[in-house]
Amino acid sequence: MARTYVVTGSASGIGATTAKLLNERGERVIGVDLRGADVEADLSTSQGRIDAAARAVELAGGTIDAVIACAGISAPIPKTISVNYFGVTELLQHLRPALAKSAAPRAAVVSSMASLQPNSPEMVEAALSGDEAEALRIAEGLTAQGPELGYLVYPASKRALARWVRRTSITPEWAGAGIPLNAVAPGTVVTPMTAGLLETAEGRAMVDAAVPMPLNGHQPPESIANLLIWLTSVENSHLAGQVIYDDGGADATLRGDDIWSWND
Ligand code: NAD
Repeated sequence: MARTYVVTGSASGIGATTAKLLNERGERVIGVDLRGADVEADLSTSQGRIDAAARAVELAGGTIDAVIACAGISAPIPKTISVNYFGVTELLQHLRPALAKSAAPRAAVVSSMASLQPNSPEMVEAALSGDEAEALRIAEGLTAQGPELGYLVYPASKRALARWVRRTSITPEWAGAGIPLNAVAPGTVVTPMTAGLLETAEGRAMVDAAVPMPLNGHQPPESIANLLIWLTSVENSHLAGQVIYDDGGADATLRGDDIWSWND
């Protein structure tokens, strides 16, 4: 029987590819995006998240089998923390009751290998404590100082999201309710988000220096979409709280072979 998926960012890039592949498999997809989706909503605002969840649950008929949250922006602007962190975490919290009604509920979100990059620990802490106003205040302070500091907002949003997934996935509301919650952390994916950067040799050199991808280089959106689909499939019974670096080897290149020293 077809499962009902809510896919955010369904109008472009990774979200659009995920929705297309799910549709091809006969699953039911409720797309959420600013425009060109079943549910048109702005996930940068708290009301937009409430409205999006209410409409998605209504369209689903009350029960949602899986949520795949892809909507995001990379601009060095304060809104990036709102869309990438609160637009994912609050929406998932609003959708959780409808997910809990499924026989095999699953959720997956899109972080980034950028979560490994320098960011703003203060903004990460503000986000994790649920204080959007404070996170925005810190982001505004950084972006006011120019694009170099403004760029810290994106990796901060993805670090906070990855940490939220780890701490939230093991709580009674998620693992305890039988809902696997995980994140995928892509490398450089060829989508409208990166098209401008990858157009010039200079842009490509900059990206490749920051995101080394020894396995097959820049990746197609399908490489992420297929993993998101597996993570939210019935087959995933025990994978929880993971941030999976599906990044052509960028994480292994940058962090090396010892990520266990925290307990040595
Ligand atoms: P994309 O720009 O092609 O698609 C993003 C989608 O999110 C768009 O359809 C956009 O309209 C939607 N969106 C943006 N703001 C929104 C809002 N306020 N409310 C509702 N929808 C909104 O980008 P993509 O490359 O497909 O990125 C998808 C996700 O993957 C993002 O979270 C991004 O940060 C992450 N990511 C991308 C890359 C990459 O290299 N492309 C790498 C790592 C992580």
